[in-house]
Amino acid sequence: MTPLYPLRFRPILRRYLWGGRRLGTHLGKPLAEGDDFAESWEVCDRGEDQSIVHAGPLAGASLADLLADRGREILGRHAPQTRFPLLFKFLDAQKTLSVQVHPDDARAARLAKPDLGKTEAWVVLEATPGSVIYAGLKRGFDRAALEREVSRGTCELCLHRFEPQPGDCIFLPAGVVHAIGQGLLVAEIQQSSDVTYRLFDWNRLGPDGRPRALHLEQALEAIDYSYGPAHPQKPQPTDRPQVERLVACEQFVLDRLTLSGPQTVGGDDRCHLLAVIEGEVAVEGEPEGTPLRRGATVLLPACLDAIELRPLAHAVLLDAYLP
Ligand SMILES: [Zn+2]
Repeated sequence: MTPLYPLRFRPILRRYLWGGRRLGTHLGKPLAEGDDFAESWEVCDRGEDQSIVHAGPLAGASLADLLADRGREILGRHAPQTRFPLLFKFLDAQKTLSVQVHPDDARAARLAKPDLGKTEAWVVLEATPGSVIYAGLKRGFDRAALEREVSRGTCELCLHRFEPQPGDCIFLPAGVVHAIGQGLLVAEIQQSSDVTYRLFDWNRLGPDGRPRALHLEQALEAIDYSYGPAHPQKPQPTDRPQVERLVACEQFVLDRLTLSGPQTVGGDDRCHLLAVIEGEVAVEGEPEGTPLRRGATVLLPACLDAIELRPLAHAVLLDAYLP
């Protein structure tokens, strides 16, 4: 059987009204004409939406195929899984997204079977001056108050907001209401679930001249009213000097590697999802002259030995994996 290797996938591009062109200009994605490129799904295994291996002996294989045929090698200690449990994407928000919330696994089992809940985290890559993130409810707003403000079209009154800086990481457990603001370019790691309840759409009209559908009842039901405001994470040091921990939760761990010299990753019987968010890095075992550039994502199968990353000058990567 073909030995596994660091897998690069073709991006799955999503075009929505709120997108732009930065997935191409800033992250190197191949874009067609148009200024509505909103999301690049980098690693995804959800029914029809499949990451496809881009190069090497396994070119053309889908992530679902790989999991079915080589699940133990891909997932290591986390095998078996019916599908790849994480989804990683980049988002270019040229307009503010709707205010939304995702249920936790228990509520999803009730409201959205068979989908799971969705906990997610964002890392801000670019922020135009004045860009904001809405994350969590201000203290003192309960369900009745939120319902009242939504019905008056003034939902924003209830939402905690702040102006993020590039590098900020925002952790959003299931049940925390959120919206990405206009001007932000973001990397997002999440549970592979698509259950989203739209609470408020800023009183906007859709392309057909009507307000877009909301999911008010489900959203109000899914919100965790005790959570309060969500602030940027405080990165924690690890025992590896170039590595800091941004998030550690039940669903995933998210580390940031700030490299000025070589760093090994993997080799721990876990699958790692690496994404370059600044600079360039050469990956051990890959052909000369094919570094990972900003916006590139690679999946390291769990069966690989630890591999060495060598920054070309300077590089910053995200490393997401199952706990
Ligand atoms: Zn979300």
